[in-house]
Amino acid sequence: MDTPVDWAKWKPGARTTAQHGDALRALLKDTGVTIKSVAANRFDMLARILAESLDRGDSVDELADKLRPVLKDPQWAHMIAQTETSRAISAAAHEMYSHYGVTKMSWQVAADDACGACKANADAGLIGIDDRFPSGDAHPPQHPRCRCSISPDE
Ligand SMILES: [Zn+2]
Repeated sequence: MDTPVDWAKWKPGARTTAQHGDALRALLKDTGVTIKSVAANRFDMLARILAESLDRGDSVDELADKLRPVLKDPQWAHMIAQTETSRAISAAAHEMYSHYGVTKMSWQVAADDACGACKANADAGLIGIDDRFPSGDAHPPQHPRCRCSISPDE
């Protein structure tokens, strides 16, 4: 049997897809979690699948399908797919805003996101493009399955 994982403590940490393997390894160490369904040597494979799939622009379901053989737990595969897709979209938006000289941005809470920290980020209003929201994040996701986004100041 696999050890249950407390995903409430899981926090996305990677800023680029290339860092996913390290980020996943670090977060598991930080939370003291043992996940028997993922052998240590699978993290690099996981990182590669994420990077390639996000580069191709796979949908969340397509990515989840590719993660399943590595992760075994289908729930986890879908959660990772959703969270990492959200990160890729937000990171790209953030990069684009910077590139086009946008100086301020705001946090837009997803309609189905009831997370208090996400609401606090939204309540902060406009912040500098290089600043961090109250949660400490530069952009979503702020928690697993976070589907919030950022908007540029017009
Ligand atoms: Zn959120």
